[in-house]
Amino acid sequence: MQLLDGKSTSKAIREELSQAVHQRRKSGKKTPHLAAVLVGNDGGSLTYVGAKVKACKKIGFESTLIHKEDSITEDQLLALVDELNKDDNIDGFIVQLPLPAHIDEKKVTLAIDPKKDVDGFHPMNLGNMVLNLPGFLPATPAGMLELFKRYEIETEGKHCVVIGRSHIVGAPMSIMMGRNTFPGNSTVTLTHSRTKNLKAITLQADIIITAIGKPGFLTADMIQPGTILMDVGITRVEDDTKKKGYHLSGDVDFENVAPKCSYITPVPGGVGPMTIVSLMMNTLKAMELNGK
Ligand code: NAP
Repeated sequence: MQLLDGKSTSKAIREELSQAVHQRRKSGKKTPHLAAVLVGNDGGSLTYVGAKVKACKKIGFESTLIHKEDSITEDQLLALVDELNKDDNIDGFIVQLPLPAHIDEKKVTLAIDPKKDVDGFHPMNLGNMVLNLPGFLPATPAGMLELFKRYEIETEGKHCVVIGRSHIVGAPMSIMMGRNTFPGNSTVTLTHSRTKNLKAITLQADIIITAIGKPGFLTADMIQPGTILMDVGITRVEDDTKKKGYHLSGDVDFENVAPKCSYITPVPGGVGPMTIVSLMMNTLKAMELNGK
């Protein structure tokens, strides 16, 4: 069994990105600038967005956090999106989801200029992804593709079972794994909460991607020996032995499943760190796509 180490892989990518920014500066080109809009004070979102902004600064990107109270109206948020769309100094931006209930997330996502949509959630970018045209790929699935690439794991002809069909992870991952590319060319089964007899399906998988948010859901009896496993799930589990009072758990019963796998991502330190670097890779790509 080999660990797919997202922490060290993302560190290597950050160094490459840092070099790329340095080269750009040397040749008089613009420094990439990512903005992140955060609405409200949800602890998890604050941590995620803070980590994204900090990671950008560390590698020499400009990054701006725009923090708004959850009393902001939908119209005010749409006006802010419009401002960011028009701001030449901002190359890409994200609006951290979820948004408060009084704001329509779809409206906000649709208002973002697809050329600056580095989260890759705009229907234009999702369409480009399906057609394999240039655009932004959603960060978490793109991070997993990067792991397949960096570890040179062959995916062609393999049966890939994706568990979970969210718009940000499971659904796009199932499309990317089925495209005629590397990584890709897999035969894909997309499963969800209504899937019957999931175990019979996972037992036929060469590759399993779990993205459901249920700690320890995938057990050793559900996989065949040699499975390649990527665990997207991150759930806080109460734990009195930890200073913070919790530990992070993936969707996989790691202790018993890992010995049966050929490759597996740990949680934390697997898919999570790759998501952040994907966002930075997208921001650099935004400069190229926009001819800067
Ligand atoms: P989500 O919106 O929370 O949806 C969960 C998905 O899991 C749904 O499609 C649901 O099916 C499916 N599901 C739930 N119970 C199931 C079961 N018993 N069997 C099969 N499928 C089941 O998904 P998400 O936003 O992708 O998040 C999933 C997890 O990934 C969470 O723990 C989240 O924190 C984590 N995450 C991690 C990263 C990262 O960077 N590492 C990024 C994003 C998310 P239905 O559609 O039928 O309801």
